[in-house]
Amino acid sequence: MCENPKRNIAILGSTGSIGTQALDVIEQNQDTFGVEVLTARTNAELLAKQALKFKPNAVVISDESKYKWLKDQLFDEGIKVYCGEDALASICEMEGIDLVLTALVGFSGVRPTMAAINAGKHIALANKETLVVAGDLITKAAQEKGVNIYPVDSEHSAIFQCLAGEFHNPIEKIYLTASGGPFRGMTRDQLAGVKPKQALKHPNWDMGAKVTIDSASLMNKGLEVIEAKWLFGLRPDQIDVVVHAQSILHSIVQFEDGSMKAQMGLPDMKLPIQYALGYPNRLKSEFPRFDFMDYPSLTFEQPDRETFRNLGLAFEAMNQGGNMPCVLNAANEIAVEAFLKEELGFLEMSDLISECMATATFIEKPSIADYIEIDAEIRRSAKEILSRQKA
Ligand code: MN
Repeated sequence: MCENPKRNIAILGSTGSIGTQALDVIEQNQDTFGVEVLTARTNAELLAKQALKFKPNAVVISDESKYKWLKDQLFDEGIKVYCGEDALASICEMEGIDLVLTALVGFSGVRPTMAAINAGKHIALANKETLVVAGDLITKAAQEKGVNIYPVDSEHSAIFQCLAGEFHNPIEKIYLTASGGPFRGMTRDQLAGVKPKQALKHPNWDMGAKVTIDSASLMNKGLEVIEAKWLFGLRPDQIDVVVHAQSILHSIVQFEDGSMKAQMGLPDMKLPIQYALGYPNRLKSEFPRFDFMDYPSLTFEQPDRETFRNLGLAFEAMNQGGNMPCVLNAANEIAVEAFLKEELGFLEMSDLISECMATATFIEKPSIADYIEIDAEIRRSAKEILSRQKA
């Protein structure tokens, strides 16, 4: 009998929060997974360390100034080293790759994810912005290439897990759960003066800076609503959000007979990462187990859409369709950046996004080139609005 071959993984964004946790999962399951490619934007030191440990075939560093140093570090191991944005897209064509984990942050994930799909690689998708911006083109390309997209986002992983064995049964509705973030229950007055440090303290999840700020502003849930629309082929009116502060139920599917299925467990990103990498198998893990006595009550409430306007803006962008989610996303990336630098207040992030959406030109069926152009254009005009406000 021939031995089960390993599943060889390319991790785009291996030095970030999802990337490092994925490597932990792989390390615990070395008979199941191999590492074929690792990539990083600027953190060459950690990328070198990871490469020496996991011995990938190749690595890519986006920051070209780090290329020579990295090449010297990995020379003795015979690991190929590439640099730049084009290399990041073309590396996904490597023959030895079975699955590409896209753990890049923001719009930067769009091009490499598209390249991986076009190369016929299955995708474990941790970069929600890719589907938010170009969900129409990405899902269409995946269908044409026979490529599967396995969600890594915990809510979407939950829906996906609930759908196992149910793919022929239509979904009536889904509920994405939201923790509400660190500012749940706060008023607009209280939020006016909050600092990045407070927003970066998430009560349940340990994540990167961008997604943690998005969680605090509820934009993360807004982006996830759009992500879910594309992943599961839903109409906007089939998607709802419910605040569940304990983050134990990770999301819920309601079928046409009225029955609801939820997936639950402790909030730990390693679980959805492992499910996406190992699908359809559930690999044995040593992750901490849930104890009912630690959670005597699970609570549910409506999101506060008046205070956290981003959620409504995301629904609006989804309902308008076309390039609007791309506009929303670009404006939000600039807003988060400005908030982290304390150049923009917490509530003003929504004002900036709303202004960008109101002034953007609507395109009903954008191409990838259109998306790249719109993204750049909105970033420019968002920065212009910011500098005007400062003057
Ligand atoms: Mn999520």
